Amino acid sequence: MRLTTLTVVFSSVLALIGCATPQSRAPKVDQLSTTLEAKKQREMVVEDFITTNKRLQSVASRVVMSGAELCGEKIAPHFGITTWSADNFQKEWKTAVQDKYGLTDQLHISSVASGSPADVAGLKEGDVIQSVNGLAIPAGKDAAKRQNEQLREIGKSGMPVDFTIERNGEIKSVFVTPVQACDFSVQLQPDDVKNAYADGKNIVIYKGMMDFFRSDEEVALVLSHELAHNSMKHIDAKKKNATIGGLIGLLVDVAAAAGGVNTNGDFTRMAMNAGAGAYSVEFEQEADYVGLYFMATAGYTIDDAPNFWRRMATSNSKSITMKSSHPTAPERFVALESAVQEINDKITNNQPLTPEMKNVPE
Ligand SMILES: [Zn+2]
Repeated sequence: MRLTTLTVVFSSVLALIGCATPQSRAPKVDQLSTTLEAKKQREMVVEDFITTNKRLQSVASRVVMSGAELCGEKIAPHFGITTWSADNFQKEWKTAVQDKYGLTDQLHISSVASGSPADVAGLKEGDVIQSVNGLAIPAGKDAAKRQNEQLREIGKSGMPVDFTIERNGEIKSVFVTPVQACDFSVQLQPDDVKNAYADGKNIVIYKGMMDFFRSDEEVALVLSHELAHNSMKHIDAKKKNATIGGLIGLLVDVAAAAGGVNTNGDFTRMAMNAGAGAYSVEFEQEADYVGLYFMATAGYTIDDAPNFWRRMATSNSKSITMKSSHPTAPERFVALESAVQEINDKITNNQPLTPEMKNVPE
């Protein structure tokens, strides 16, 4: 009897699935409109990326310039531009950026950080770089990276650098005088992931993380935390720790997880499996602590830092239940509050903004 009922139910479900097609007659969709819509959406994605990158680079420029002293010997000439070319894109994306931004295979300026030497000198987004101090500009897929290296070399003298650019069909010379800044490049990754990481040389912030920020102070906070991981050489130290345990193969993942704002369960698991958790909590606390000094030195208000981490913690229930390489939320909150107090007291008393160090030799 029961079997019969089940069979009846099962077959009626099948019958329902069988006729589950839309009942209304939707408008016909032609190929051309679909193609145009796809292109429009691609352009919107790129535009959003470019706007977000400008915001990130502007905050980053301010933090790395003012933090030069805290970065010690890890400094390099800073100009404050990022570049791109059509070679960075494939097929349909290429068409979208060519049409919308007039992008060619030459290097175009994609962002000029507000208040950076490039901004002060008058370089603008969209400028096409023709030469730098008379030297040819790299071309091809990794042109932007090679251009950075070129600028690093040229900038060493500290003298004004002659950017010959094309703007609206006119050729111009713009002289940019670089300043010393922390030598860590900041990159925006397009993925919709709420994470960030430092790898010892770079700081990578995901688009999903940028979308989560409600103010430039919050951008500066995470950026400064990552900058602290790099300036305090946490990755090198982690490598040493990991080598002892014979875990070299997992280093990249561990660095990504432990260096980041850890809200992703998979990343956490990788870090835990690698057993690199032992020193992580201390490193994370140091990145929080030293990071606040970077942030305050750049003139950002640090008072809301504990609240931001609280918001991060509560926006992902996993971080409350799962023990990660980052300090647990309540522990972190309390430590941050006292660091904020310490720094604000120094600001009030006009004391230098340098982190308190242990007096024991390393
Ligand atoms: Zn961290």
